[in-house]
Amino acid sequence: MQTQLFIDGAFTDGVEGRTIEVFDPHDGSLIANVAEATGADVDRAVAAAKRAYPAWKSMAASDRGRLLLKLADAIEANAEELAQLETRDTGHPIRDSRGLDVPRTAAQFRYFGGMADKYLGSVVPVDRGFLDYVIREPLGVVGSIVPWNFPLMFVSWKMAPALAAGNCVVMKPSELTPMTALRFAEITAEVGFPPGVINMLPGYGQTAGARLVSHPDVAKISFTGSTPVGRMIAGQAAVNGTRVHLELGGKGANIVFADATLPKAVGGTAFGIFHNQGQACIAASRLIVHESIADEFLERFLALASSIRVGDPKSPDTEMGPLTSPMHRDRVLSYVKIATDEGGEVLLGGKPPSDPSLAGGCYVEPTVVRAKPGTRVTCEEVFGPFMTVQTFSTDDEALAIANETDFGLGGGLWTNDLSRAHKMARELNAGMVWINSYKRAHPGSPFGGMGSSGYGREMGFEAMHEYTEAKAVWVNIDADIPPFYPRG
Ligand code: NAD
Repeated sequence: MQTQLFIDGAFTDGVEGRTIEVFDPHDGSLIANVAEATGADVDRAVAAAKRAYPAWKSMAASDRGRLLLKLADAIEANAEELAQLETRDTGHPIRDSRGLDVPRTAAQFRYFGGMADKYLGSVVPVDRGFLDYVIREPLGVVGSIVPWNFPLMFVSWKMAPALAAGNCVVMKPSELTPMTALRFAEITAEVGFPPGVINMLPGYGQTAGARLVSHPDVAKISFTGSTPVGRMIAGQAAVNGTRVHLELGGKGANIVFADATLPKAVGGTAFGIFHNQGQACIAASRLIVHESIADEFLERFLALASSIRVGDPKSPDTEMGPLTSPMHRDRVLSYVKIATDEGGEVLLGGKPPSDPSLAGGCYVEPTVVRAKPGTRVTCEEVFGPFMTVQTFSTDDEALAIANETDFGLGGGLWTNDLSRAHKMARELNAGMVWINSYKRAHPGSPFGGMGSSGYGREMGFEAMHEYTEAKAVWVNIDADIPPFYPRG
């Protein structure tokens, strides 16, 4: 497959001729040397996107939609190859790459392919004698910067609505996991996207990313990543008045009430925290469980968590693979020491697995820590298979614990009491709340956070609003214009 930058419809080396080594987190082997984009490549790509924009913007929305639908079909036609590549690059268990990452990527393009010619303007009932209609116009060149935890899926989250709305995109995938994004770029060329509409530039944040953020011809930066980098980007983008959409970190509160259906709550919690090795912004990283059922819940949960099959992500039996990089594994493990230093108790895991066949990889066992409120492990994002446990006695106490962090992304509630569920859903500081489930997503349902988790929304009509701006057109149908300067 191609390992060069994708600019203006063609694969090309970076101007500075540098490359990035990409490693397999299962055994540390080299997957590929991928071309590295630097500032000059970003300039080339933005110029190409700018050239492509007028024609792409004026193309019939249904024709843009048709291309996105073709892309969805092509992703499905290449599903197995994409799944294998994602698994090798990220460590996602192959069952997840096949069952979640690739189908969700195709579904995203299909949804927004359908959306392209159904995203309507409006007519405003203004003063008599006037017609006032509002059209939604694309912004121009969108710069997308994405992290390493769901590399293929995030390509689709950013690209699909931006393209459907008529924007051209320059994307910088993470330097750690650029493989499926490059294969994706190849597929877009096969499908027939016009040159320049889609550009894919693997590179580092401080060089390629920073140039994209400060480029005067970029109308909007759509960023998914960590809170500190997101905030810095928002500051840099402000210099040119560039719009910013930030999808940042999270510290998901997952509250289990005394009346919850325990088997469902246990299974849902395990998926919430351990899917993708906990490397998810919406991970259920804080269990907040009622004191009357805490022992029973934990007994069941620890039994389930210790039975999770950790291993080579290429094996169809594997349920948890390695973390995506050695640096990240070390960071996650460092929180085990932080937890014990803060008076926490490790109930499960907290170390790499003992299986010698996994010694060369970035593995961490499912980890559960009983923690005190207001500590680093209950407030900072660990972003791994690391769940804290806290107990509560009243609903108000549960809410206070849940809202203790500055994050506000996802949260879960397990209860059979309808009014409690809705009341708590209103009170939780979160952009998404799941009742008796966790971590659901759909291309039509707004996805995003508040507070330190960022602002703006992916998915659905909200995403189309993110990538368009309103233009109000006033038409005088039969209104008299009162003379403002009567002497004329
Ligand atoms: P990161 O912030 O380090 O990097 C994200 C992206 O930004 C990468 O492509 C990186 O190269 C780029 N970048 C870094 N410095 C930059 C700079 N100065 N200018 C421009 N670009 C720069 O995050 P990460 O470690 O790759 O990803 C993990 C983080 O992402 C976690 O905090 C996680 O919660 C968050 N995340 C959020 C969501 C969401 O939807 N809210 C989804 C997934 C991940």
